[in-house]
Amino acid sequence: MTQADCIFCHIINGSIPSTKVYEDDQSVAFEDTNPKAPVHYLVVPKQHLASLAQTTPEHDQLLGHLLGVVRKVAEDKGISKSGYKVIQNIGRDGGQVVPHVHFHVLGGQTLIGVT
Ligand code: AMP
Ligand code: ZN
Repeated sequence: MTQADCIFCHIINGSIPSTKVYEDDQSVAFEDTNPKAPVHYLVVPKQHLASLAQTTPEHDQLLGHLLGVVRKVAEDKGISKSGYKVIQNIGRDGGQVVPHVHFHVLGGQTLIGVT
């Protein structure tokens, strides 16, 4: 399921360019265009889900899958040993700007205090 006005749905279907670092049948990971650390990529489901708050237990397997992608790409990027930060902003108070579920993954420098 895609949403016509969703920027991440457009990235997933290729109509907006991105630097993809991983893709499978359920998910895509791509570089954030405004990186807050030397490594900063986003992991998103191909299914349009506005935020974690709009998911239900039936999405738990997908959400677990996305965390597996977070881990795999971190290994590929060489940040597993040094560590990294995973952030998901949810809704207005969470500061979410793009209403399509995404995990931020930040690494490559110390991120203590970075939110
Ligand atoms: P959030 O505030 O959690 O919704 O984060 C949205 C993120 O998407 C920000 O870090 C943006 O830099 C990033 N972003 C916005 N547009 C694009 C794009 N076209 N390609 C890659 N990242 C993007
Ligand atoms: Zn979307």
